[in-house]
Amino acid sequence: VNRSDVHYFGAGPAPLPTPVLERAAQALLNYKDKGLGLCEISHRSPDANEILADAKQALTALLDIPDDYEILFLQSGGSGEFSATVYNLVSIWVEKKRAKIAQEVGDDKDELLKRLKMVVDEELKLDYLVTGSWSLKASQEAARLVGAQHVNVAADARKANDGKFGKIAPESDWSLTPRASGGPAFVYFCDNETVDGVEFPAFPASLEGDDAPLVCADMSSNFISRKVDVRKYAVIFGGAQKNIGNTGIAIVILRKSLLPPVSNSCSPDLLRALNLPVGPIVLDYPTIAKNNSLYNTLPIFDVWIAGQVMSGLVSAYGAKKIGGQEAISNEKAKMIYDTLEKYSDVYRVVPDKTVRSRMNICFRVHGGDAEKEKAFLSGAEKKGLLGLKGHRSVGGIRASNYNAVSIEGAKALVAYLEDYAKAA
Ligand code: PLP
Repeated sequence: VNRSDVHYFGAGPAPLPTPVLERAAQALLNYKDKGLGLCEISHRSPDANEILADAKQALTALLDIPDDYEILFLQSGGSGEFSATVYNLVSIWVEKKRAKIAQEVGDDKDELLKRLKMVVDEELKLDYLVTGSWSLKASQEAARLVGAQHVNVAADARKANDGKFGKIAPESDWSLTPRASGGPAFVYFCDNETVDGVEFPAFPASLEGDDAPLVCADMSSNFISRKVDVRKYAVIFGGAQKNIGNTGIAIVILRKSLLPPVSNSCSPDLLRALNLPVGPIVLDYPTIAKNNSLYNTLPIFDVWIAGQVMSGLVSAYGAKKIGGQEAISNEKAKMIYDTLEKYSDVYRVVPDKTVRSRMNICFRVHGGDAEKEKAFLSGAEKKGLLGLKGHRSVGGIRASNYNAVSIEGAKALVAYLEDYAKAA
């Protein structure tokens, strides 16, 4: 079977552009005619530095990342960032409180610790908007690290939806930690829920304003698929393996004011004294930033792939930047959803219309009849339409519509949906 014979709709690792893989095959054997492959060169070599700089430049161009933001590459995967965001932002929160109390109590270390403990007990809140499996996991990791008493699930999308994900409650129903009482250490949400097919239609208005909290977003499965106003976020992160590249790296876009010398994390000793967790050094944003993402060995091949994908988009869309890709993502998603709706006697889209993901299109066939869904999937495979099985936790069908899925791929899926429905 040739690559050109199939269209892959898997949720991740996801398809990559064939020309990038062709260049990668060559680069693995012999990079820039040096007689050595990309996986064999030092991450501290000038070539590696160039690869890193090019990838950053392309991402900056695509998303219009302002100068006061830093881009980090880590091996953490998306899940590692569930922990990294907690370690880093809690530490910054504690340091801010420590500095304030220190102004009041001067050199009295015992008094400082006593008051800080009280402040942590009473005020440390991490707000999570739980809209699907991944934000749920992130909130559980936060609770594991700092204790459930410090995690405020400000919205749980299952509550008003029969215990299932598929909706996002109106912002007026969210119970964010009030700004008047100091607000949360941060608010966390997952911009696109890969398993449940739920995507935030826009940045939540209640997280805006002069005294807005630090906002952290997981964009693993919709990274570089639409315009983003980076300034609204303290941290944006995502694993590369869906829209950007292959498995192996996560990318973090971080507000520089959260890094030294502007904002200092507090000392590990103080965190221990407060019974708060001290994170591993490889997840420490200040350390990674200070070392230009090369504190430890970075998989440069993975960064190169990401750079190739992103600079391909920069060349393709020029001044339109990521808006060019956004238009195509929207067009493909619309084509598929329209077909599912046209044959609503056969198909049922799972999430609510207002929050349907453009990236992961989740639907049922014949009301979720297991045998019929199996037949639907095997018919699709015969046509070279692969990776359509829904996540094992929810079942059903999921067509992932990442950047590397071509318009032709989306059209082939639409044709199959039509044929299947007409024959049903
Ligand atoms: N966040 C989202 C939205 C995801 O879809 C995934 C994986 O599919 C993750 C986080 C976890 O990423 P990783 O497997 O790289 O830890």
